[in-house]
Amino acid sequence: MRMVLLGAPGVGKGTQATLLCKRHGWKHLATGDMLREGIAEGTLLGLKAKEAMSRGDLVEDDVILELIEKTLDGIKGAGYVLDGFPRTLAQARGLDEMLEKRAENLDRVVLLTADTEVVVERMVLRGRVDDTPETVRHRLEVYENSTRPLIGFYEPKGILRRVDGVGKIEEIHERIESALA
Ligand code: AMP
Repeated sequence: MRMVLLGAPGVGKGTQATLLCKRHGWKHLATGDMLREGIAEGTLLGLKAKEAMSRGDLVEDDVILELIEKTLDGIKGAGYVLDGFPRTLAQARGLDEMLEKRAENLDRVVLLTADTEVVVERMVLRGRVDDTPETVRHRLEVYENSTRPLIGFYEPKGILRRVDGVGKIEEIHERIESALA
């Protein structure tokens, strides 16, 4: 299984990706986690990402695509869940090209849905350093402008499934499982 978890910041992509990967032995590929790791370790990647992340802006597509390409090279053949990538049309097209080169395809894109009040509340509870009220608001805007258009990119491919992201973690997990069947 090669899948993408799509949805607004705070909708629970990370939590659900963790459950899916634990259950199926897939790799959890979260660009946000990789970038935070880079920042913590002071790598070049972290340096490139730091400013944009602290503002709640997106890191440059080229930086992200290079990161994903390296990561896919390192997990040859394994199933995976992409969490927080792609976030722009350029990234989605870049991913398609990478997969084509590997003679692979994306099996599913699961769109987790929730009302804005729910995702804002979850981000406030999460309390990450980039979860200040201003960056939260900005990240939601960035999602609307740059990431939401991916729905229209994946829908015609027939691989997009919408899953209600409100409820108990286990219930949402089972909904995703059904959407993958
Ligand atoms: P996340 O952990 O997915 O919420 O990502 C946290 C932050 O990392 C985002 O607000 C962006 O600044 C950056 N980021 C993570 N993934 C991407 C991506 N695919 N493209 C651009 N920026 C990203």
